[in-house]
Amino acid sequence: MKDKIIILGEYQQDKISSITLECISAAKQLQGEAEIILLLMGEGIKKDASEFQQYDVGQIIMVEHPFLSRFSNEPYAKAILSIWDQLDPAILLCGHTDIGRSISPYLSEKLDIPLYSNVESMEFNEKKLYLNRPVYSGKLMEKIEVNTSVFLVTIKPKKWKASQKKPDRKCMIRSLEVKIDQPISSLIALEQKKHQTVNLVDAKIIVGAGRGIQNEEGFALITKLAKVIGGTVGVSRGAVELGVCDASMQLGQTGKTVAPDLYIACGISGAIQHLVGVTSAKTIIAINKDPNAPIFEVADYGIVGDLFEIIPALIKEWDNA
Ligand code: FAD
Repeated sequence: MKDKIIILGEYQQDKISSITLECISAAKQLQGEAEIILLLMGEGIKKDASEFQQYDVGQIIMVEHPFLSRFSNEPYAKAILSIWDQLDPAILLCGHTDIGRSISPYLSEKLDIPLYSNVESMEFNEKKLYLNRPVYSGKLMEKIEVNTSVFLVTIKPKKWKASQKKPDRKCMIRSLEVKIDQPISSLIALEQKKHQTVNLVDAKIIVGAGRGIQNEEGFALITKLAKVIGGTVGVSRGAVELGVCDASMQLGQTGKTVAPDLYIACGISGAIQHLVGVTSAKTIIAINKDPNAPIFEVADYGIVGDLFEIIPALIKEWDNA
């Protein structure tokens, strides 16, 4: 029986990414007798690695290399395959994030082991492991019986509680060397987008804009509402198609999965592909002029009416609060 679970750690702009802490919680569920190893890759990441030392993992493995300074599939995969050879683990666990989605199918093929992606819960029944994940755009839940002890898994963000620091802990950091050939592609430049994406995944309040906002003016109204209540703007595909905002702000099946305390959906119909990314919100308020819009089926509070009348009234009310 193999006895190691590797977590592929992510950190953003020198900040621990919450998905890594959620991966630690998911790994604890799978742990049994296994050791949990957090793998951090990059360049000049000693400080980032030390930030994780108080979390509940057996050890941190740090791999530093100039080709790992930014995520790119090819060098990252080479490094992970080298680590896999050195450690011979049972499970590699990562977030169902841009990085996890990109690298896990490649690793699955190279290692010739199964990949279970976008898992949102796990259960043991008579010592058998079952993984649950949404399929067909979230219309169905699939329950998979895992019959192998060696596999890859990506977990859906915000489905596990983030692991908490343990003040009396300080786990070991080990540096491992990997040999990575010059990648066939390399990053030439990074260009800042017009609408810079804020960290939607960790936002506590999100104001969602849909096709009902109609134009730039509508988008400005949503942005103002978000500002007044200390929230962040997220959008539906409908709003992206209007050309008033960036696709990186999209929530849903092909966008981000979020779990804010409050989600205010404005002019969003509630298509399943959108809902799959937002229904983990603690409270949902929907504003829509169509009383039969499906968004009202998942909303805790609904306001039927024209958002161009309702939102200015809300801004006035909350701005004075
Ligand atoms: P619409 O469905 O057009 O709804 C607009 C709503 O605004 C309507 O309910 C209308 O009553 C209301 N409205 C209009 N004017 C006003 C007003 N003045 N005041 C109040 N209400 C008003 N969509 C996503 O969002 N995220 C995804 O990740 C995603 N992935 C997809 C993946 C696939 C494979 C496919 C096929 C589709 C995907 N979609 C996704 C698209 C999805 O199916 C819907 O088309 C999209 O979510 C609709 O966006 P919407 O609700 O803004 O627009």
